[in-house]
Amino acid sequence: MRYAQSVADLVGRTPLVRLNRVTDGIAATVLAKVEYFNPGGSAKDRIARTIIDEAERSGALQPGGTIVEPTSGNTGVGLALIALQRGYRMIFVVPDKFAGDKVDVLRAYGAEVVETATSVPPEHPGSYYSVSDRLVREIPGAFKPNQFANQNGPRGHYESTGPEIWDDTDGRVTHLVAGIGTGGTITGTGRYLRDISDGTVRVIGVEPVGSIYSGGPAHGYDVEGVGEDFWPETFDPTVVDAYERVSDAESFAMTRRLAREEGLLVGGSSGMAVVGALRVARTLPADAVMIVVLPDHGRAYVRKIFDDGWMTDRGYEVEPAASLLPAGFD
Ligand code: PMP
Repeated sequence: MRYAQSVADLVGRTPLVRLNRVTDGIAATVLAKVEYFNPGGSAKDRIARTIIDEAERSGALQPGGTIVEPTSGNTGVGLALIALQRGYRMIFVVPDKFAGDKVDVLRAYGAEVVETATSVPPEHPGSYYSVSDRLVREIPGAFKPNQFANQNGPRGHYESTGPEIWDDTDGRVTHLVAGIGTGGTITGTGRYLRDISDGTVRVIGVEPVGSIYSGGPAHGYDVEGVGEDFWPETFDPTVVDAYERVSDAESFAMTRRLAREEGLLVGGSSGMAVVGALRVARTLPADAVMIVVLPDHGRAYVRKIFDDGWMTDRGYEVEPAASLLPAGFD
């Protein structure tokens, strides 16, 4: 019989799939690493597992302990599915602007969710950061994974994502392209691929216009999970050889194309990464093998990126609807 001992054992070993249509006119092989095959639907399951394993080993997390993290999205889901296997309580602190589907998913996994005011500065006692710090201080046995500083995040990618890519390409990978949020994915995966290839694999980081990593001024943007207005400790910029900056409009247009042309229903940061990847791939010879990481599933975005009304309200273009219905139906 072949079966996993628990859902935690299903994390990782995600597949590579060739992009066939959006790569029209490109000679290089462009392969997507589809992280929505993780049991929580995103790459964050990997860091959740490594962070919890290490916290148990170091004693920071004891049996019956409580995990407290400010997160509204994929990291919370990853932590929740590992935590519930192992009997920990979970409290996630989320800014109230994120109330909705993502928070409901955390509650569905049995987590407690504390909503905090979005419109107060970080030092305010009611802020996202202050509330989570106070919960950690006041709850006995509380452990805060701290995904923007915890080095076991990048380590999780060094030990899993990197080796999987090397093995699945028989060592023929030449380029890695990934979006940068906490920087864990690109730091861990990029470092592994550079180490094992003696520095020949090129690492390209992609970020939204409005994020600071490649030197631009910080301002708001709509794509979720990537870009920052500060430098997290989990991002090592020395692994990045080059950056690509992508607008929300380009990211969302590509996200929609990935669904319709490749059958890959993924989130906006995946579209963003593919735009950056294709810009570089266009300049590469036929023997190049590029991996682009697609971090999460698109289902959480069906009322946003995949909704024509949401898109046009925000000033994004949508492709004209092609209808197969005979005249008279709509
Ligand atoms: N895309 C999405 C949807 C994410 O949630 C994240 C994680 N913040 C990323 C991309 C970026 O990954 P990383 O934090 O490893 O840089």
